Amino acid sequence: MPPRATDGISHPFTTLPGPAQTVAVAPGVFWLRMPLPFALNHINLWLLEDDGGWCIVDTGLNHAPVRELWTALQGGFMRGLPIGRIIVTHYHPDHLGLAAWLAAQAGCRISMTAGEQQVAARIFSEGNQLRVDFFRRHGLGEELFADIATWGMSYRRNVSGVPADFIRLQHGDQLRIGGNDWRIIIGRGHSPEHAALYCPALGVLLSGDQILPTITPHIGVWHFEPEADPVSRFLDSLERFRELPAQTLVLPAHGKPFTGLHPRLAFLASHHAERLAEVLQACAEPRSSADIMKVLFSRRLDSQQLPFAMGEALAHLNCLHQRGELVRTVDEAGCFRFQRC
Ligand SMILES: [Zn+2]
Repeated sequence: MPPRATDGISHPFTTLPGPAQTVAVAPGVFWLRMPLPFALNHINLWLLEDDGGWCIVDTGLNHAPVRELWTALQGGFMRGLPIGRIIVTHYHPDHLGLAAWLAAQAGCRISMTAGEQQVAARIFSEGNQLRVDFFRRHGLGEELFADIATWGMSYRRNVSGVPADFIRLQHGDQLRIGGNDWRIIIGRGHSPEHAALYCPALGVLLSGDQILPTITPHIGVWHFEPEADPVSRFLDSLERFRELPAQTLVLPAHGKPFTGLHPRLAFLASHHAERLAEVLQACAEPRSSADIMKVLFSRRLDSQQLPFAMGEALAHLNCLHQRGELVRTVDEAGCFRFQRC
């Protein structure tokens, strides 16, 4: 029997933080939630006490209600103490969104990995055309391009800026925050160089989007690295988290804090193995990413979800292609198709 999503998972905190409020989850570690205007309606951010001030991990979307909540927090729970450090786990707008805005107020630099900074800077400055061409070559029908076009420019709107100068995080770095050492663990697959933070003394992992309790992190191929195999990168990255103790308290970017890291890692690995088997099965005839997207996602997708679903379908196709289980051809319309060997 494959493991079920909830096997071995417990949620030790039953109360969610209200707007501009926090919940203490470990000594000097506070949980806050900010709204997101999507089907996934919130993100968790973390405040760490740091030498008379605060270290912030992830920042929320660049939207007026989120900015107002930050202002309320700074005057309230944060007692007007300075923000000395802003750590961003990865480039996605709900994480990086307000980092530049907060950093400008605080007069501090943003800490992130070079891989995330590079992609953020690129997406922030480029237009929509490369993405549209990419999706067209993977079989997305013209009727859906209106959706993609509205989606394409949202990164620039949802992110307050991308730092040109930043503090670079690398795998294995130790950060001293509020009297504790936190180790950077790089994960791949969800984003190019995602930074999670682990504190052995507290037994706490800030897992970002790399490990989530109730949804599986998005794993997609994008136009800036069309041949990538992020499924294999993601599965390889899970190994790094298997070394952490079984009782680790995981503080994810979405959903509730949980224990049960190892069962969750096992579920994530089996989930992608199942998806790969499903995709392989569906490729008895030559299939495009758009065909496979319909196999993987039977529900109606909104304009925000559609590009992610396309990217996810291609991620599983590229993985099977690179494992030598699918061949890739180009049809007369110039569209990529994949078929079982
Ligand atoms: Zn993300």
